[in-house]
Amino acid sequence: MAYGFDTLQIHAGARPDPATGARQTPIYQTTAYVFRDAEHAAALFNLQEVGYIYSRLTNPTVAVLQERVATLEGGAGAVCCSSGHAAQIMALFPLMGPGLNVVVSTRLYGGSITQFSQTIKRFGWEARFVDIDDLDAVEAAIDDNTRAVFCESIANPGGHIADLDALAKLADKVGLPLIVDNTSATPYLCRPIEHGATLVVHSMTKFLTGNGTVTGGVVVDSGKFDWSASGKFPSLSEPEPAYHGLKFHETFGPLAFTFHGIAIGLRDLGMTLNPQAAHYTLMGIETLSLRMERHCENAMKVAQWLENDDRIESVTYAGLPSSPYHDRVQRICPRGAGGLFTVALKGGYDACVKLVDSLDLFSHVANLGDTRSLIIHSASTTHRQLSEEQQIAAGASPNVVRISIGIENAEDIIADLDQGLARAAG
Ligand SMILES: *Cc1c(COP(=O)(O)O)cnc(C)c1O
Repeated sequence: MAYGFDTLQIHAGARPDPATGARQTPIYQTTAYVFRDAEHAAALFNLQEVGYIYSRLTNPTVAVLQERVATLEGGAGAVCCSSGHAAQIMALFPLMGPGLNVVVSTRLYGGSITQFSQTIKRFGWEARFVDIDDLDAVEAAIDDNTRAVFCESIANPGGHIADLDALAKLADKVGLPLIVDNTSATPYLCRPIEHGATLVVHSMTKFLTGNGTVTGGVVVDSGKFDWSASGKFPSLSEPEPAYHGLKFHETFGPLAFTFHGIAIGLRDLGMTLNPQAAHYTLMGIETLSLRMERHCENAMKVAQWLENDDRIESVTYAGLPSSPYHDRVQRICPRGAGGLFTVALKGGYDACVKLVDSLDLFSHVANLGDTRSLIIHSASTTHRQLSEEQQIAAGASPNVVRISIGIENAEDIIADLDQGLARAAG
């Protein structure tokens, strides 16, 4: 029998420790693993046998987390890495090369916009930004050098919902993988692979860990993409010189991307998740569904209250009946629209800055997806490096604050916003 989500978030990938019977997954705080003999060592290094060599590549605590997230996302495999930003590089690395491009949404986390518009240029990669609600624009941006389409399921900061089914259909038509950053939704609210995504990336720093204790990332592979069909993905389809001409796709089939991520990506880029961080994230994931339900319930109450307050210009929460994404959210995130949205204040930039400084319960931080309610004025912080045009396109206009609703009592969250708005207006 297939277990349900609540069961899998506790059990997937884990079993009592074979050496000690420890029920909780131990933190394997070790760098290396003793080989049985020289033959065993050689087989591991040749990728002829799966096992542990060195913790830059694989670690038993991290392996449990990889299997846990892959299972919750409905993927074939997953590779954990040191942050969400590392996960994005790890996802693109096997696909990209100098002169190649990725078509990405204008509505991304500000740090991702900077990573894609500035830093990846140094690898000779190009990101082409488009409004992903405009499918004609997405198609027009794709050319022979495009290797992927990239978007967020629930966009940070605005909470916009991407039409994953339509984007996957389009990517499929032109033989490209769709990569979905599922950080704000988590697999409890949205499972992008079921909507046709090839790869799913997360900043595990946010809702998956859920309490603001670690940075971590993960790339989940659906195992469904044919990397050999077009000749566009030679890292996966052609002989790999670093492993005596092994072809990853031919050898590992649906696990090709995952094995490449470990054997080439982690080995040579070294963006490894440490076992202590994996432990915290495993602890967080055990309560993911419970937390996400409360995040959604609270976010809905707070968004409704804000929408009816006359100091507020608008609220972007996709769960509100007034949202243009209200119908789409039922299809993409049927269990709720998450805990993240933006609020535009009638008082503009000044009122936003004052509000942020006037709240007691809310923390003013550059993070989201915590048990605590968090707030930030994106335009002066996370989206500061962007032009005003980019800020507006990303949903981070100067007159909006981003709110990440925690799992405290909704009445307390509302009361704090009420007094903060009063002080911001005064
Ligand atoms: C935070 C975030 C990232 C980057 O993750 P880090 O763990 O901070 O590197 C990427 N995408 C989204 C949607 C995020 O919220």
